[in-house]
Amino acid sequence: MTDAALARCFSCGALVPDIVGPTHEYMLSSPGCWQCYGELLAMEYEPSFYNPNIHRITVDSYAVSHPGTPERRAIQSVNVHLVSLYCVFEQRLPGKQATKIIKALVDDSEITKRLSWLAPPDFSEAMVVTDVLRAGNREDHERLVTAWGQSLWNAWKERHLPTIESTAAPLLRALHRSG
Ligand SMILES: [Zn+2]
Repeated sequence: MTDAALARCFSCGALVPDIVGPTHEYMLSSPGCWQCYGELLAMEYEPSFYNPNIHRITVDSYAVSHPGTPERRAIQSVNVHLVSLYCVFEQRLPGKQATKIIKALVDDSEITKRLSWLAPPDFSEAMVVTDVLRAGNREDHERLVTAWGQSLWNAWKERHLPTIESTAAPLLRALHRSG
């Protein structure tokens, strides 16, 4: 965090530094929010913090709370990251398995061409990136990331569970077949 004044991210609602700076091309956010996400990733890549199962949830949570606008890349991104959260929070798969599933998803053009825009829910009850940045140690970090992911999954699943479920179903069947 810098000493800049704070402003709300227009997408996720986090109170973030009010700065001018880069943002992602289609996971649209306020620049201060993108900066906070960069800080969070830097923390997660520290060897003492790195846990691929938790990192999976971090990347998905940021993506689905910054869905952008209905264009091809954003449509695919939101669907893919929601399938991952579905695998983690509904199917109780480890993040590493969810990563396998979404790799198979993006490689399957028969599935990706059928993906459609999922209208974003209200994020006002969900946690935000700055909640997670408060973690003082690894245990705290993992607890907060998991709660962040769960809160966003809860917001999305209310409207879109059947769609996500049907996108994920053939991929889960293939995963189970391959052991
Ligand atoms: Zn944001």
